[in-house]
Amino acid sequence: AKAHGRDRSVMFDEEMRAEATRLLDLEADLRRAILNDAFEPHFQPIVRLADGAVVGHEALLRWNHELHGPLPPGEFIGVGEDSGLIEQVDWLMYRRVFDWMSRHGDGYVSINVSPRHFHAETFAERLLRMLDDAGADPRRLRIEITEVALLEDAPRILRMLNVLRNRGVLALLDDFGTGFSALSYLHRFPIQALKIDQSFVAGLGGEMHAESLALVRAILALAGTLGIDAIGEGVETREQRDILRQLGCEFGQGYLYGRPTPERPVGDA
Ligand code: C2E
Ligand code: CA
Ligand code: CA
Ligand code: CA
Repeated sequence: AKAHGRDRSVMFDEEMRAEATRLLDLEADLRRAILNDAFEPHFQPIVRLADGAVVGHEALLRWNHELHGPLPPGEFIGVGEDSGLIEQVDWLMYRRVFDWMSRHGDGYVSINVSPRHFHAETFAERLLRMLDDAGADPRRLRIEITEVALLEDAPRILRMLNVLRNRGVLALLDDFGTGFSALSYLHRFPIQALKIDQSFVAGLGGEMHAESLALVRAILALAGTLGIDAIGEGVETREQRDILRQLGCEFGQGYLYGRPTPERPVGDA
């Protein structure tokens, strides 16, 4: 039993070392990718559920890795957040997105903003300057933030959101329902829409139907009271779409309408 225990701990050490090496490799890879500007936005449509009309797109980050192809953020965002590299990645990504906006059609484009950005006092100004440099209309941009960001340093975030809103950049609250959902803060911030987290939408019509239905209904009631729009995330089936629509959710996004794709043309672009 003793030998067995020692084997296990040796194995554990080796696994830890392998994992640490893998993460270090990933960090080094990420640094190189930043130098090579190896990131690309993919765009996923956001639709009006009543008729399926495309009202905008969410820009989703992809890393064109030299060996592994386009990597979704789940593969590297942890390392990016821990090392602080995600901010640099995001700025490269935003530049691409604004360039795309300046070349393509109508509808809005939403970008994901890591809570880390709000530590930088000049985030809003920098974003607006980049939009202007790219010749993109700020009124077509929306930023997706999470509840975590709002809880961090309320007065500063409020200032930044107002600076952005004054130029027409609206804020969406991402993954709504998974965070603290401290209702008291919601009405204090200029939030244009809540994105209902896909975990609730996924439950509609499935095993968790009753619970999901109750939660989605509560979120929609809250949004209605505050006069905020709602976007259902991760809509994969017509059943989910129909339920959302019946509950009064006006907008949706998900594989039912389209997967994230590179350089998706918009409208009469
Ligand atoms: P998110 O903001 O909640 O984005 C939605 C995620 O759900 C995306 O994953 C999207 O591809 C996926 N999705 C869309 N429709 C469906 C569906 O019908 N079913 C399912 N199962 N999934 C669907 P993705 O692209 O892998 O992004 C993961 C997360 O990475 C995002 O979650 C967001 O938090 C973060 N992220 C994405 N782009 C950026 C970025 O440019 N900067 C930063 N900082 N984070 C980003
Ligand atoms: Ca998002
Ligand atoms: Ca989300
Ligand atoms: Ca998410």
